[in-house]
Amino acid sequence: MGETNHGPVRLIVFGRQGAGKGTQAARLSERFGIPHISTGDMLREAVREGTDFGKQAKEYMDAGQLLPDDVMLGLVSERLARPDTERGWLLDGFPRTAGQAADLQRLVPEGGITAAINLEVPEDVVVERISSRRVCTECGTIYSTNDESARSGTCEKCGGEVVQRDDDTEEAVRERLATYNEQTAPLLDHFDAQGLLATVDGVGDPDDVASRVNVALDPSLPHPQ
Ligand code: AMP
Repeated sequence: MGETNHGPVRLIVFGRQGAGKGTQAARLSERFGIPHISTGDMLREAVREGTDFGKQAKEYMDAGQLLPDDVMLGLVSERLARPDTERGWLLDGFPRTAGQAADLQRLVPEGGITAAINLEVPEDVVVERISSRRVCTECGTIYSTNDESARSGTCEKCGGEVVQRDDDTEEAVRERLATYNEQTAPLLDHFDAQGLLATVDGVGDPDDVASRVNVALDPSLPHPQ
């Protein structure tokens, strides 16, 4: 059950690829009853649908490169305008550049962002995690190669196919990590300066990380209504 007796909760989850953003974001979205908006998942859906947009997006994604800011702004502004965002939202994978952070600030009312969570995981740990990461093509649940759903190739939640992401190759991962360090990591200072950043140690069991996230978030949460 989500917690519902509070004002809008608008969260951003940061962390390099493989830091556990998707896993923690899914839990937070359930806790607060807010949509988990993953730009990567939205783009992968467009790729699966085989639209012209999806085909163009795939070229960037497979190369481990970011799509242009104006394209991402179109995608995110349309998504944040939907009615299910009334009680808040959780952004996973956006913003990723200074331009996107400025765009987001324009889309959200003044003082409207509740907190930004930074899942801190060293680079060598994420490289290891990404190489064993598998994902359900239907519901997006993330598995590791040790999980039965990854071994069987069938998602235990929805029966969808469980595969390795096309952009989880070593070369694309290196490119994405470099892009994160150059373009996304500097945004953390921007949110820190506004008193919004909660940095959490993302190493270890997902349940332990989730507890740390909840503790770090507590002071930022809006008061019950
Ligand atoms: P993710 O699942 O968040 O790692 O995203 C997978 C890929 O989608 C990235 O490597 C980019 O190619 C693209 N992508 C996702 N979010 C963004 C964004 N905010 N800006 C630009 N490209 C993005």
